[in-house]
Amino acid sequence: MSDVVDVPMESLEYRTEVKQLLDILAHSLYTEREIFLRELISNASDALNRVQFEMLTNHEVIDPEAELAIQIEVDPDAKVLTIRDSGIGMNRDELVENLGTIAHSGARTFLQNANQSQNTLEEIIGQFGVGFYSVFMVADEVTVLSRSYRAQDRAARWQSKGDSRFSLSETEKAQRGTEIRIQLKEDAGEFAATWRIENVIKRHSDYVSFPIYVQGKEGEAKVANRRTALWRQAPSKVEAAEYTEFYKQLTFDDADPLLHVHMVADAPASVRSVLFVPARRDRSSLQMRPEYGLRLYSRKVLIQEHNKDLLPEYLRFVEGVVDSEDLPLNVSREMVQSNPVTRQLRKALTNRLLKEFRSLAEEDAEKYIGFWNEFGVFLKEGLASDYASRDSLQELLRFHSTQTGPERWATLKEVAERMQPEQKAIYYILGDSLKSVTRSPHLDYFRKHELEVLYLTDFIDGYMISQLREFEGKPLRNVDDANLELPKDETANAAEKSVEEGPYELLVARVKKVLGDRVREVREGRTLVDSPARLVSAEDDYGRELQYVRRVVEENYVAPAKILEINRHHPIVANLARLISEQGDNKLIDPAIEQLFDNLQLLDGSYQGTAADMVERIQQLMGAALRS
Ligand code: ADP
Ligand code: MG
Repeated sequence: MSDVVDVPMESLEYRTEVKQLLDILAHSLYTEREIFLRELISNASDALNRVQFEMLTNHEVIDPEAELAIQIEVDPDAKVLTIRDSGIGMNRDELVENLGTIAHSGARTFLQNANQSQNTLEEIIGQFGVGFYSVFMVADEVTVLSRSYRAQDRAARWQSKGDSRFSLSETEKAQRGTEIRIQLKEDAGEFAATWRIENVIKRHSDYVSFPIYVQGKEGEAKVANRRTALWRQAPSKVEAAEYTEFYKQLTFDDADPLLHVHMVADAPASVRSVLFVPARRDRSSLQMRPEYGLRLYSRKVLIQEHNKDLLPEYLRFVEGVVDSEDLPLNVSREMVQSNPVTRQLRKALTNRLLKEFRSLAEEDAEKYIGFWNEFGVFLKEGLASDYASRDSLQELLRFHSTQTGPERWATLKEVAERMQPEQKAIYYILGDSLKSVTRSPHLDYFRKHELEVLYLTDFIDGYMISQLREFEGKPLRNVDDANLELPKDETANAAEKSVEEGPYELLVARVKKVLGDRVREVREGRTLVDSPARLVSAEDDYGRELQYVRRVVEENYVAPAKILEINRHHPIVANLARLISEQGDNKLIDPAIEQLFDNLQLLDGSYQGTAADMVERIQQLMGAALRS
């Protein structure tokens, strides 16, 4: 080991973002500072995985015989903690790149969240891990000596006090790998004790697959982690608590997972796998982790850290490890994708997961709803993209409907079983929120006849339904469909204030004039009961389902004009018709028609005007109402 400061030495400044991060860390009162060790061990383990992978194909790696291990040494008198690994190492430029900027995932996400999130800093540090820089929560000074696996690279030394600068110099280092020497802060002396280090390793790094030796000033080095590849054990031998512990160490999540699946099979391909569903969506792949994917091993060698081919994309919220001996050991990361074994594994893992979701639904309905609330949208995405798993996915769907209300849920099967004898289709309504769909004029008729309508209010629903189209031979139909064939009498409405033929024609003409080509047609709506009007879609394909998606995704998307249906029995309509025939030049007529139209668009979630436009008009109408 060399600790000699060699000349020449350069002094470099950290990138602004690093300074920002260091500043936050220096001032944080984060109580669980111990996670710095988790971060350093995880880096060492990554470096070991990488050199192990490199050695499969590259015979020029220096020190090929060195044990792949992590060594931790403490010196309580000097308050020094040293962490060594025989991993891939870094040359000078790599030290600058890796420990001088934020090229790396965890820290970047951390900074973004530290700026926006309402969570306290402490929570965020715990959740993300801020990578290498977290060492400055406990360090007065850090010295990194590193030697890359490449024979031609010189060893380099990096040093920093965690202020705005770090220094670099060349150095001598006989062995491959990295050594991190930490001069602990006065109040962090606890981390110079073996018992404390061992205790942190148990809690956060027990499943690291390389041995972690811990050594005090005297005595033998002891391996402090259990190192078991949990996924290679027989499921019957693993306790529930071990899965939980493994999950937490794997993901750095502090919440227990919602579900674990341990899969052991030898045909058609060998697979040992432990997969997890996190408790919350925001903890999982979509937002927090910049990269999702499973850890892929072959014979315990980590081939890929974030493999995205072993599960379909919609299952990206699943975390875990897959190990297969049928993948050739020297497989390149690119080749994993095209390997037929990968396809077999993907099928097997997907089927197994969907089966577990089904069992959960059967065995613990309440827990399943918890799962559905977090991850239902992903399964809907799956329905729209994974034909092979369609049947299993259909069973997993849950809906609110006119029958269930917002508290309970229905499956498609239940809805199909509740269908009335003359009912030919399963009905649904698309919209932005439960609140707006439950008030939709489209539901008048269905409520009146107690026909069930599914509420589809997720962003992805339009897309899903355009792929799903039917369930067990029963078509799924949108209630806003202009050509909907309805099972019951449509004109069962005999309210008193019906509009005569003459005034009605005048009304229709006036509405057409005011709304112009914003509506495709104006006609009588026979299904309306309590609502004055509704907008129905003229297209007879699933294009209209996609309008919801397109409105969000495409900036200048203009939905095709709809048909306006008018309820001749509604008092607002009757009064409007009377006003038009008796007093055609009344200034309230046109604004009232505009407002009626906007109200419908608001309920549909398709209103694109501004609130200001509408407020002005509403005030004009209020003014008149209050005067009379
Ligand atoms: P992350 O691990 O998320 O990439 P870190 O801040 O923990 O971010 O580490 C930054 C980078 O520094 C790593 O990606 C790696 O390239 C490099 N690094 C850190 N520690 C080591 C080590 N012990 N051996 C080799 N490289 C390392
Ligand atoms: Mg790291």
